[in-house]
Amino acid sequence: MAGVVLDGVSRVHPDGTRALWQLDLAVADGEVMVLTGPSGCGKTTTLRVIAGLEPASAGTVTIGDDVVNELPTRDRDVALVTQQHTLYPHMTVGDNLRFALRMSGTPRQETEQRITAESRVLGIDRLLDRLPRVLSAGHRQSAALGRATARLPRVFLLDEPLSALDAGERVRVRAELHRYVKTAGVTTLYVANDQAEVMSLADRVAVLRDGVLQQVGTPQEVLDRPVNQFVAGFAGLDGMGFVPARLEQSAGLAWFLVAGRRLRVPGGLPGALRSHVGLPVILGLRPHQLGDATAAPGHPIDERLPATVRRIERLGPYDQVVTEVAGAQVGARFAPGTAPGPGSAVELTVQARLVQVFDPVTATALWHGRD
Ligand code: ATP
Repeated sequence: MAGVVLDGVSRVHPDGTRALWQLDLAVADGEVMVLTGPSGCGKTTTLRVIAGLEPASAGTVTIGDDVVNELPTRDRDVALVTQQHTLYPHMTVGDNLRFALRMSGTPRQETEQRITAESRVLGIDRLLDRLPRVLSAGHRQSAALGRATARLPRVFLLDEPLSALDAGERVRVRAELHRYVKTAGVTTLYVANDQAEVMSLADRVAVLRDGVLQQVGTPQEVLDRPVNQFVAGFAGLDGMGFVPARLEQSAGLAWFLVAGRRLRVPGGLPGALRSHVGLPVILGLRPHQLGDATAAPGHPIDERLPATVRRIERLGPYDQVVTEVAGAQVGARFAPGTAPGPGSAVELTVQARLVQVFDPVTATALWHGRD
């Protein structure tokens, strides 16, 4: 087993498209690194360059102790699973797994032991005699994963392997996959756009935009301390609203002026914001931080924001109310059925110590709130 290091890796296509630009990324031995970012940001390209299916235009790709830039795919000892399952249609599931192991020279007895163990882990042990076409999409995807992972490679490269599955199967296969990669301890790069997958699978997550790495960190770090507005808006399950404000200070007190209201910053002016006093800033607010002020009588006026209801999404345990605050779209959580209809004025509770603050010009993060 081995770590993967990308050092200044770029991939520029012949037509000039920069799919990846000067990517530095070190994935530790046994680590699960999830690559995420909007469509076209270079996630698949990263996996293909590591697998050797596309050349790097610049930089080095190292697997373990070996620089592999010049090595053909078959000598890199990586297993790539893509969105399309890749089973041989005329072979049973068992034979698909057997074939993968035989090709790598595994002795017969060990092959059978590995297939038994592997198929049990992936929940396909009763399906070994079936042909791929009679399986559900979820079981087919599990079988494809089984085939790719039957022989332990140095590196797993998984490109949205659960995207073809329905919600229930996705949760089941995700849990199996998580258990499997953790037990096997194989270095894994995993492309995911589903934020639940990102949060539940990643040891660390790398966020890409237009081929450029924005941030690498644990899911919690990326959520709590995003480097810029882009990462803040992308990370997390229910997004972030960005509200224009102005930072003000007087007599040892500090507040954000928002929609004509003063939102007090408890504890006074944060050191990181000193140079922004009197200037516009952007406040980043997550829905779980905003509630219904009518449900919190006595909540101080300087911890509330006026908003207009635009849309109500009923999510079961709570209603996600999409509101407008100072011209920006901001989600808030209300008890089910308690929000007034679209167009109504509401008051939202907010804790200024939890907001994220961004520079309106550069979009970089200035302050991540106070614990
Ligand atoms: P998705 O989430 O949609 O799969 P992605 O993040 O995996 O997207 P890539 O498939 O890596 O993105 O593509 C990165 C960029 O490279 C995109 O702008 C894409 O259009 C471009 N690209 C990919 N293949 C080629 C090619 N053969 N020639 C030119 N541009 C390409």
